[in-house]
Amino acid sequence: MQVGIPRALSYYDFFPFWFGFFSDLGIEIVLSDKTTKQTMTRGSALVVPETCLPVKVYVGHILNLLDKGIDKILVPSIQSIAPKIYNCSKIRGLPDLVRNVVKKPFTMIEATLDKSEKNQGLYEFLKEIAAYWNITDFERIRKASKNAWKVYNNFYIMRRSGVSYKAALSAAMENKVIINSDSKSYPINIAVIAHGYNLYDERTSMKIFEKLEKLDVKTYTAQNLTQEQMAEGLNAINSRLYWANEYEITGAAAHYIQDRKIDGIVTINAFGCGPDSLMLERISRYAKKLNKPILHLSIDEQTGEAGFVTRLEAFVDMLYRKKRSKIINKIKIKDNTERFSDINCRDLI
Ligand code: SF4
Repeated sequence: MQVGIPRALSYYDFFPFWFGFFSDLGIEIVLSDKTTKQTMTRGSALVVPETCLPVKVYVGHILNLLDKGIDKILVPSIQSIAPKIYNCSKIRGLPDLVRNVVKKPFTMIEATLDKSEKNQGLYEFLKEIAAYWNITDFERIRKASKNAWKVYNNFYIMRRSGVSYKAALSAAMENKVIINSDSKSYPINIAVIAHGYNLYDERTSMKIFEKLEKLDVKTYTAQNLTQEQMAEGLNAINSRLYWANEYEITGAAAHYIQDRKIDGIVTINAFGCGPDSLMLERISRYAKKLNKPILHLSIDEQTGEAGFVTRLEAFVDMLYRKKRSKIINKIKIKDNTERFSDINCRDLI
């Protein structure tokens, strides 16, 4: 028994759950390959140009799984993750979108999760998925679901403690929990705010974490926060919860905007994303109010790495200058006889 899972969209948030669930049921998971230029090109060729990049990438991953000969692919329709909190229309209608553009024969596992409706909760969702392999035994599905939550919770415990995405994922899949041993201190701290698929897909995010690490920057994301911290962020910004991703975008950004150790915020959003354009507007206003530097990076399949890097470097340089002038001002107050003009910013911090 095999299931194909596209390495795109909700994969970056929920794969640990699916790993725990399917392995407990004895179903082998086949993942699509990592995103490449070809994945983007093939996906983009099938959908209308206005579609956001993550969905184009998702379609490219479906094609990759079909190339591997996988005939059952998980394409869930996740409508609502809590009462009256909805996903964007593209994620809600994902099975219909895929059916209309991928004209190849395969079985699409298109179960629906809709917590705003009766009888479409998580158990019904999992039951619907298991039925594709004629698994209907309640106890078996319940046990698989328990294992799924265990792997998922272990993954998030590690992420919150600062373990990197890759290390946390591989430890969770081996049923282990590791602790963060990185005690290195960094002169600049930046919170990177985006959907999981815009952050952890190395092709889409152009390896932003590696680039910032090279610039001696420590990065933080929504996955390093608890639900309570993101909820406090939402309260602070006075935002009503509507979109399924409000916690990881608006809530996390507002939390980090208030956090004094964070020097700046970088957001990454897909060109043409409706929910993000609304959320980012609120975040920008709040950052301005609290005088926190913010950089918005918009991506599509044409985005060039050179421009991306230049903007990132300029932003980090500005943060160094800002921090340096703060430190210099503090020293000047203590001893105004010292000369500062030739002090290197990085040495100072
Ligand atoms: S939330 Fe935005 S980026 Fe994500 S699938 Fe919807 S439109 Fe695309």
